Amino acid sequence: MHSTASDGSLSPSEIIETAKNIGLRAISITDHDTIDGSAEALRSPQAFPLEILSGIEISADYSPGTMHILGYMMRPDDPSLKQALKDIQQGRAERNLKIIERLQQFGLNIDYKEVSEVSGGGQIGRPHIAQVLVRKGAAQNIDEAFARLLKKGGPAYVPRYRLPPAEAMQLILRAGGVPVLAHPFTLHTENEAELEGVLVNLKQAGLKGVEVYYPDHGLEKTAKYERLARRHGLLMTGGTDFHGAAKPGVHLGVGRGDMRIPYRLIEEIKKSRA
Ligand code: AMP
Ligand code: ZN
Repeated sequence: MHSTASDGSLSPSEIIETAKNIGLRAISITDHDTIDGSAEALRSPQAFPLEILSGIEISADYSPGTMHILGYMMRPDDPSLKQALKDIQQGRAERNLKIIERLQQFGLNIDYKEVSEVSGGGQIGRPHIAQVLVRKGAAQNIDEAFARLLKKGGPAYVPRYRLPPAEAMQLILRAGGVPVLAHPFTLHTENEAELEGVLVNLKQAGLKGVEVYYPDHGLEKTAKYERLARRHGLLMTGGTDFHGAAKPGVHLGVGRGDMRIPYRLIEEIKKSRA
């Protein structure tokens, strides 16, 4: 799940409150390229009896698809993790300015201040830029803003500094965490054999798990990822990718309503760390 520290709409304390209200046993805030929201949740005196696992989601350098590496249970104050995230955030800030410049060149009336206002004080990303475009009537909705302008390869797309997958995983491992490949379908591999090849390479570079359970996986993908995880001795994890109002239809803890991610997956993560 994502908090206001990245592109979610609930603060870490609002997430904790909601998670307790619906009776979850454990959560992990896995913000994009920042551990601030997760660290805040870990420090929260309000969390008990909810178990908080530290988390992160790092965007790795990969094409043609999108590769996100999740990290669970890192030490949130690990110095090399913090430094690397600072570098990524710097690259992101520079890229945001370039995207806004491009949009201005297309004649759209948008400035950095407006984008920073909708971000809720956390890290700024393309979803916040999209929100401003929608608010100004320059796009019908967030998806349309991405499809027409902001998506990878789109006219207002500007790439940003990303870590190679191996470096992202090593960073998580050195901070005591467990690296997991998020929502494997976004890699856009052609078939199961190609995905399997990617997994084998990632495993050699430190990968420990695969996000098998995810709102958009459906039965077929879920079965495929379970099969691949089993075959290659990788942990299975689950995530809702909850973003609050920023991602309508996906609810905290239950995704589109039918997800129940079992606690035993966390026990397996802990065993693997030990
Ligand atoms: P950024 O980290 O600033 O590059 O923005 C990436 C985020 O934008 C992703 O984590 C998604 O939440 C969102 N996003 C990416 N592609 C799309 C899309 N095609 N439609 C809607 N949201 C998207
Ligand atoms: Zn992701």
